Amino acid sequence: MTARLRHYLCGSTSHDVGAMFHGASPGVREFPSGVFLYDGGDGRRVLFDTGYATGEWHTGWRGAVYRRLLPPTVDDADDVAARLGADGVDPATVTHVVLSHLHPDHVGGVRRFPHATFVLSAGHARTLAAPRLRTGVLPGLFPEWFPGAGRIVLDVDAFPTVDIRGVALRAHDLFGDGSYLVVDLPGHADGHLGALVEGRVLLAGDAAWGSDLIEASAGLRTLPRLVQHDADRYADTARTLGDLVSVGIRVVCSHDPLGTKELLD
Ligand SMILES: [Zn+2]
Repeated sequence: MTARLRHYLCGSTSHDVGAMFHGASPGVREFPSGVFLYDGGDGRRVLFDTGYATGEWHTGWRGAVYRRLLPPTVDDADDVAARLGADGVDPATVTHVVLSHLHPDHVGGVRRFPHATFVLSAGHARTLAAPRLRTGVLPGLFPEWFPGAGRIVLDVDAFPTVDIRGVALRAHDLFGDGSYLVVDLPGHADGHLGALVEGRVLLAGDAAWGSDLIEASAGLRTLPRLVQHDADRYADTARTLGDLVSVGIRVVCSHDPLGTKELLD
């Protein structure tokens, strides 16, 4: 079987783009939360992020503040397990879950994968150990079993630099065969990760809020700058994404409203 990379929409939020970027015209835009499943065709099933949590959130005052700032739109059909099931994929067959970062719109479905191996960065582990509203992490979204789950914690500072069609990226080859590179895309959150799949599609997480907003990402307004872990590195990463686009890599951001399900075609 040939490898596949599939996209699922697992909830959304909306935000005024004009309030985010200098020079952007005002207008509320919907930001869907994308989840991506790489199926190697050989038993490896690697999920990138998990979307929003459905049902009630038991996340206390931090959750109330978060939901006021970024109100989620999510119903039962948006649950990552439901989305996979509707596509004929048993969630229990997912072998790995890579988390780009730990914001609520990326970790809401973690609880659906108790048997998977989680791929995290050391920055994620640091953030989880000391959750604060400033880092946008809601501990209540993580299941009780999560600290004991199978996990691979990657130190991005130890990633070798690889050459992707002339663009330098720091990356870890997850399976040692070049099919799935976990990539250091710093700035948005501590230890923020992306993934380069089959050397062709870069899952960029929240390194930019949309693949059409990569250029604008260098001109963040004050408030969105403040919620970045490191706004200067965020701008540098956006420039790298632009370079990758220019050499023919398909860059897909978590909140892109993609119209297609299969991304390796
Ligand atoms: Zn985020």
